[in-house]
Amino acid sequence: APKARPIGPVTKGSPEQIAYMQCIEQDFTLSTEKLEEIKNHFKSEMVKGLDNEGQTLAMIPSYVEGRLTGEEKGHYLALDLGGTNLRVVLVTLEGNGKFKTVSTKARVSEELKTGRMRDLCDYIADCIDTFLAQQNLDNVTEELPLGFTFSFPVLQSKINRGVLLQWTKGFSCSGAVGKDPVLLLQDALLRKHVPVKVTALVNDTVGTLLSNAYQKPATLAGLILGTGSNGAYIENMSKIGKWKDGKTTSDEMIINMEFGAFDNERTVLPLTRFDNKLDRKSINPHKQIFEKLISGMYLGDIVRNVVTDMMDRNLLFNDTQQHTEIISAHYAFETAFMSSIEADGTVDLGVTREVLDTNLNLVNVKDEELRIIKRLVELVGTRAARLAAMSIAAIVEHTQVEEQGVDIGIDGSLYEFYPSFEERMYEALEVLLPQFKDVRRSIRLGLARDGSGVGAALTACVADRMMRQHKS
Ligand code: BGC
Ligand code: MG
Repeated sequence: APKARPIGPVTKGSPEQIAYMQCIEQDFTLSTEKLEEIKNHFKSEMVKGLDNEGQTLAMIPSYVEGRLTGEEKGHYLALDLGGTNLRVVLVTLEGNGKFKTVSTKARVSEELKTGRMRDLCDYIADCIDTFLAQQNLDNVTEELPLGFTFSFPVLQSKINRGVLLQWTKGFSCSGAVGKDPVLLLQDALLRKHVPVKVTALVNDTVGTLLSNAYQKPATLAGLILGTGSNGAYIENMSKIGKWKDGKTTSDEMIINMEFGAFDNERTVLPLTRFDNKLDRKSINPHKQIFEKLISGMYLGDIVRNVVTDMMDRNLLFNDTQQHTEIISAHYAFETAFMSSIEADGTVDLGVTREVLDTNLNLVNVKDEELRIIKRLVELVGTRAARLAAMSIAAIVEHTQVEEQGVDIGIDGSLYEFYPSFEERMYEALEVLLPQFKDVRRSIRLGLARDGSGVGAALTACVADRMMRQHKS
């Protein structure tokens, strides 16, 4: 991602605008003390979730036991559902931490996201079928094993079984909550005679952790910072108080934290009225509160809520005949626009002007208005990065990471493309983890490319291994 070119607090404009912006600065700035308070609460919520079922931080055992060696080999199919696209991937694990992938992508329409689960599964089965034909894999004699990355909160009961607790990120298909997504997909595959067997069910964070670990054995955690957000990390079995499922083949297990739901009770997060409005207007009010502060699906709309509030108070676009229909619509201000605005280093903010003009039909925006909007973007983007880093600091302290450090694999559009997102995360880690001499060396953030695809393949591989070990 390019670098952000922040302009800092607004100093030009009418006295009313400046006063308004001063309040906004306070509302959106997270002090070190506040971040620490949030981190401490996060840590205690982790422990609660490990000890009891049904907590805000669900802390879901993934049934992925043990670690990878990087020597795993084989061909696996993977399916990735839960972000912006649906993907089918053929993964070849070559050993030595190396892999190859071939994949196809399909958009999931609003209709499919909000219709019947049966229709969504039929659509997925068709996509898999087409992919197999393209890859000349449709004449196999044995069913192909498939790892299914399903990036929603699923309470797992086996490595390839679980029930969907709730939808997130704009999905709301009927006939899925409380059901097993593996069985629903397998049914569709059977109906359509697609020779594929779903052998592993995995959250994208777990997949990201595994794909990072395949290349970097010191990996502790995997995060998604994209359309939605969440994290997974490696936990000792002895700390998972709620585990009742008998002996495992390893004394460690990956935990899917489902941290998007952190502080749904709203006790520590400093929510502004703009965040509350976003929540209220979402299709899952009171759910995924933390996710709504840090994810690509929502950040743009927080900015938009401030902009429209300023418009209502005659503090923006006042004396031009503005076209405000577009900016008045829900989700009209995309997080991708924020990325362009953050990277705008021109003196006259020409890039910002262009973004507003071409996407939102806002013309003749005044210079001081451009600066206000750019500053809003900076504040919302920086707050997100600092909160995301807070979750890593909590995991690091909870697991008592030592100076030699760990790798953290991260995937998702925000981490990959949002200007200076990673840099801002490191800055927050520096203040949150003063016990490390050099945080950037000890807590090594890195892009885990295609965590969902490769991770699902690796999970299918671990599933094989566990089956053999359980049999012997
Ligand atoms: C889901 C998680 C997922 C995350 C990132 C959240 O909305 O609840 O299961 O890992 O998005 O895709
Ligand atoms: Mg994804």
